[in-house]
Amino acid sequence: MGTMTDFIPVASPLAQTQAYAQEIQDAIRDVVNSGWYVLGDYVSKFEKTFAAFLGARFCVGVASGTDALILALKAVGIQPGDEIITVSHTAVATVAAIELLGAVPVFADIDPVTRCLDPSRIDDLLSDKSRAVVPVHIYGQPAPMKEIKAIARQHGLKIIEDCAQAHGAEINGIKVGNFGDAAAFSFYPTKNLGAIGDGGAVVTNTAEIARSVKALREYGWEKRYVSSFPGMNSRLDELQAAVLGAKLPYLARDTARRRSIAGRYRKSIKNRHQSPPADVKGTLHAMHLFVMESKNRESFRKFLKDAGIDTAVHYPEPIHKQPAYAGRIRGCDHLAYTEKLYKSIVSLPMYPELTDQQVDKICTTLKKWDLICRKK
Ligand SMILES: *Cc1c(COP(=O)(O)O)cnc(C)c1O
Repeated sequence: MGTMTDFIPVASPLAQTQAYAQEIQDAIRDVVNSGWYVLGDYVSKFEKTFAAFLGARFCVGVASGTDALILALKAVGIQPGDEIITVSHTAVATVAAIELLGAVPVFADIDPVTRCLDPSRIDDLLSDKSRAVVPVHIYGQPAPMKEIKAIARQHGLKIIEDCAQAHGAEINGIKVGNFGDAAAFSFYPTKNLGAIGDGGAVVTNTAEIARSVKALREYGWEKRYVSSFPGMNSRLDELQAAVLGAKLPYLARDTARRRSIAGRYRKSIKNRHQSPPADVKGTLHAMHLFVMESKNRESFRKFLKDAGIDTAVHYPEPIHKQPAYAGRIRGCDHLAYTEKLYKSIVSLPMYPELTDQQVDKICTTLKKWDLICRKK
């Protein structure tokens, strides 16, 4: 039925670039003509404005979200062999970053409502090597940070928030990125604030951690060409910072648009075979992804596809099921809800540039499926 031109993709970085074409072109031309391409004025300016957007004190631009996790963990003092409690229900980057540092991931199950780390699981996973918790605000839904903080404080654990999917998400009016020792953001093109390449940032309210990440991202330099300690190269380039800076003023508006689309989807899903993501009291969901649950997922996906609507599964397998990690991560045999959830999740198209007509079409199709399910 749907031709290629009216097929609705799950995400569309191109639609976003087109929406802000003028601002982006101007920013790019300026950088190209400036002759300064890595860690310059655009990066410093973006760091300041993104920190201000979050209500945080410091932001340090780095090369990717994965690097942001690595550098944040390193800056809070994580050493090879240290155990980090996190989740299996996440993007692989969360776990890859921990292992790249030589640290050891340990998996806690998720909470069925938030689909984020279940704080009541932390106690059982503690050992004398436990050093940190990495909660992931998955899909843009904030993790229960108050409970996680209470347990972390009790056991002297550092907290690094994985905010790669949650730019602008809030808990009681405070933006995520402010609830731990440091936070990692990604600016991969499909994220809520996306570059036209790779990018990331470490956000913190602690001057010492910011200083440390700043040095670590460039060979451990505190003074140019002089390494105070061993570092790496994970710099943000000026082109990406300029594009991010051009788009940041629209992020709040874009998030509101995502949430309004999600509201319409919610109203169109009302049968016992399917459920929309929970609307968790006291939190503002950034709606990076609209991930619903469907008991008959494959036929549901086919029904949408035939109507010209793409869907995706984030993610087809939790980390502890993937060949690189299977059977070797502590905690992996106690992930009942993680094991249950991944089989039914399905992501609907979600980006601010979806037109009202496209949203109408998706809602109409959801309602048709609703009727079919009710008859069953
Ligand atoms: C995208 C993502 C990352 C990694 O970001 P990159 O910029 O791709 O390295 C980390 N964690 C989560 C949850 C993500 O979605």
